[in-house]
Amino acid sequence: MSLTLAPAPVLANILDAVGHTPLLRLRLGGVPAGVELWGKCEWFNPGGSVKDRTALSIVTEGERSGALRPGRTIVDSSSGNTAVGLALVGRAKGYPVELVMPASVGEERQRLCRAYGATIVFTDPLLGSDGAMVKVREIVAADLDRYFYADQYRNPANPLAHYRTTGPEIWEQTGGRVTHFVAGLGTSGTVVGTARYLHERNPRVRVVAVEPDHGMHGLEGLKHMASAIVPEIYEPRAHDEKISVVTEDAYAVCAEVLGGDGLLVGHSAGAALWAAREVALALRSGVVVALLPDGGERYLGASRGIHSRASER
Ligand code: PMP
Repeated sequence: MSLTLAPAPVLANILDAVGHTPLLRLRLGGVPAGVELWGKCEWFNPGGSVKDRTALSIVTEGERSGALRPGRTIVDSSSGNTAVGLALVGRAKGYPVELVMPASVGEERQRLCRAYGATIVFTDPLLGSDGAMVKVREIVAADLDRYFYADQYRNPANPLAHYRTTGPEIWEQTGGRVTHFVAGLGTSGTVVGTARYLHERNPRVRVVAVEPDHGMHGLEGLKHMASAIVPEIYEPRAHDEKISVVTEDAYAVCAEVLGGDGLLVGHSAGAALWAAREVALALRSGVVVALLPDGGERYLGASRGIHSRASER
């Protein structure tokens, strides 16, 4: 590998660094020789996750529509990564940010949000991300004029972020060769928006949605749709297939890509890679792209091991 790499971007604003993430060839064991497995490395976003795309899209669309104007506070519920994204975008654009999250959200992320200047309201961890969603709606309803409700579960600007950026990037980075796209379901914005773009370019691209095998799981950021409040932006027909992943299997793949590729990825990325390998195993040739939402450094806290299961953390 040469030390003279591609020219580094020169940016006018930190928000210009959102998106344009690397696509990385992976060497995960068991993938047939004729199948290419690629990871879309979303921890390269400035706030450290795929949700920077969503946060920037929601805030920009809010400004464009007039719903977000100076003096208003951005508010939303989030299991963590959208919170960081909104805290970053709000800070960079000069809006106060208030975040509602289950008290079980990792301390790393709470500290990050506070460092960006956001305030946090905690909800009962046993009620998961649904409990935080119910609470934020109460807060907004009590003072409609004060808030811009980002509403990532209902806001079309969420999937739009992926229709406009994630999808086109994957298409370009694979030279239009992508055959399978594999990504986890949380709000479903990633799957719905990316699928819409890829299917427009080539209806034969197979989109595989990934979800935890049941409601009580340890895959932060992912939703088990059958036992959760289904997000309004979710379109079950956006994906061609759904694969359920067991928490322990996802964690094992995180260890495997750390050993094999030197990648420290988050647990939902492990789930996407576990499912991507299942997909690859059934193929003789193909270009499989797995979306890796964040890095593993967010899950290093002592209480974040495999034994700290919680629903929808
Ligand atoms: N993984 C992680 C770590 C996340 O934070 C999220 C966002 N909830 C997802 C996966 C799922 O992404 P989406 O909300 O776009 O479905």
